[in-house]
Amino acid sequence: MRKSSTTEVTRESRRLSAGPVSRSVARESEPGRDCPLCPRLAAFREEIRAREPHWFNSPVPPFGDREAALLIVGLAPGLQGANRTGRPFTGDYAGDLLYGTLLEYGFADGVYQARPDDGLRLINCRLGNAVHCVPPQNKPLPIEIKTCRPFLIATRDEMPKLRAVVILGRVAHDTTLKAFGIRAADAPFGHGAEHQAGNIRLFDSYHCSRYNTNTGVLTPAMFKAVFARVKAYLAAS
Ligand code: SF4
Repeated sequence: MRKSSTTEVTRESRRLSAGPVSRSVARESEPGRDCPLCPRLAAFREEIRAREPHWFNSPVPPFGDREAALLIVGLAPGLQGANRTGRPFTGDYAGDLLYGTLLEYGFADGVYQARPDDGLRLINCRLGNAVHCVPPQNKPLPIEIKTCRPFLIATRDEMPKLRAVVILGRVAHDTTLKAFGIRAADAPFGHGAEHQAGNIRLFDSYHCSRYNTNTGVLTPAMFKAVFARVKAYLAAS
């Protein structure tokens, strides 16, 4: 798919080199298993732990190599997906489409079996979420998105070879822009839109949720087109 817009955002490059979370601090900035910073999410986590003691039920860390050139930013762990299995996008419908697409475009190797021990390996790619903890009804509050943003920044800052970010959905788009110090007016969200942030290109996509695919908002072809663009961009850069 052709990009619908490309925005050069020069202020962001300064933020990248002097971000609020330094690379050395970033590794110490992963949330602990009982991160208390979002009281509503911490309470929800405890509730699910009591109900489903064998699930992961903790902040879900990124999956993939820090040396990767591509970072994919989703919204938050799904209740029965990443929150259950402990690996982003693993175990729910969104993962079926995402991992299938990553395998098709060479960003993953192996067979996706919706389990964290399926042996699937990401290639030059890392997955994370804007919010590390599962929110009720899949809807984090604005304050929770803001509170977890330093961990998103830490994920970015610990990737020295980062060249491309695929952002899934408008909410992830908005917080990722803030993480990069980009004004929303300078980089409007749109499926297929691209925005340049220093030497990193941001690729927007509708979220690969079951709701979006069932309603036809996002087709597999539309989703694959974004990754075709990413693949071409990384090959040329
Ligand atoms: S969403 Fe992020 S900041 Fe909030 S409790 Fe979970 S790990 Fe902590």
